[in-house]
Amino acid sequence: MPRPIHAFVHTDALRHNLQRMRLAAADARVWAVVKANAYGHGIERVFEGLRAADGFALLDLDEAQRIRALGWRGPVLLLEGVFEARDLELCSRLDLWHTVHCDEQIDMLSRHKTQVPHRIFVKLNSGMNRLGFTPVRFRSAWTRLNQLPQVDEISFITHFSDADGDKGIAEQMAAFERATQDLPGERSTCNSAGLLRHASAPAVAADWVRPGIALYGSAPDFPQHTIHDWDLQPTLSLRSRLIAIQDLQAGDTVGYGSSFQADAAMRIGIVACGYADGYPRHCPTGTPVLVDGVRTRTVGRVSMDMIAVDLTPCPQAGFGTEVTLWGRASNGAVLSIDEVAQAAGTVGYELMCAVSARVGFTQD
Ligand SMILES: *Cc1c(COP(=O)(O)O)cnc(C)c1O
Repeated sequence: MPRPIHAFVHTDALRHNLQRMRLAAADARVWAVVKANAYGHGIERVFEGLRAADGFALLDLDEAQRIRALGWRGPVLLLEGVFEARDLELCSRLDLWHTVHCDEQIDMLSRHKTQVPHRIFVKLNSGMNRLGFTPVRFRSAWTRLNQLPQVDEISFITHFSDADGDKGIAEQMAAFERATQDLPGERSTCNSAGLLRHASAPAVAADWVRPGIALYGSAPDFPQHTIHDWDLQPTLSLRSRLIAIQDLQAGDTVGYGSSFQADAAMRIGIVACGYADGYPRHCPTGTPVLVDGVRTRTVGRVSMDMIAVDLTPCPQAGFGTEVTLWGRASNGAVLSIDEVAQAAGTVGYELMCAVSARVGFTQD
């Protein structure tokens, strides 16, 4: 029998979350962002749940090929565009739409030999200062692209830095408006936070929106809002089992460094899950966990292959009892990945992407 840790990808939850994003986006079309192997879920495992999207957005050409291999004939957008000239050949062959964010990408396009001109999204750097042409340079980039025979329709894209926080998106949205207002073409704004928190504002009217994390059942602005507040469902459940039980006396300690000490007699369980499975080592004593669908806490340090959990609230638990590290337990109880991420000082995004190769996955 394999080690009992396993990850489950929930197709029904992906469908639900996508529908939820559609409602938030009103008239916009929805790119399902599936970069980083669908936020660690596996592109092939999320495809069924997300196939009602209007397109798929990602970064790796290899992932674009996988989406086409699944039979997807609709739009595919490369969010970082191409990295070298020969990538354009794949764009032509697979009909990939691509972002153009720098002069070097325009140079490559101008030398590209293609029968069919490309659909591109020219990117405005509206304040994030990662990718895109600044407002001052945007117009000349557009003019250059508009003159290229290799280019068909030109659309516009920008990315918000603070859609999840107090600063908001007003300044960036205004910069995007100013830069594009008299140019013809479709517009794409809004990650998950932009969509959930700001998309009802008329100024945010977009032809295409780009939710990622919310599709995977994590609240982009946790802890201000939870998945419950946003009506999202976990799409990734990491489950394992108890492989040992220990009865502690007052004064006994648990794990490396003896960082946890029992102040009274208690029962603990040892879970087959550790940082080598992608469970964060930074999770301290007290990190929430579900044992048999009952909420309890971890105790002591996370080791490479094991963690310890307090069995006080679940006296019925024993060898082989199910443990849900995050997601949905078999009995339907939910522990949001956001809570575990917060305990580790990080965000749900990082945990999803970090489930390690030794963990088996099942789509259900
Ligand atoms: C990753 C990404 C998104 C999706 O962001 P979420 O916060 O996961 O919703 C949208 N647009 C771009 C350009 C991205 O890189």
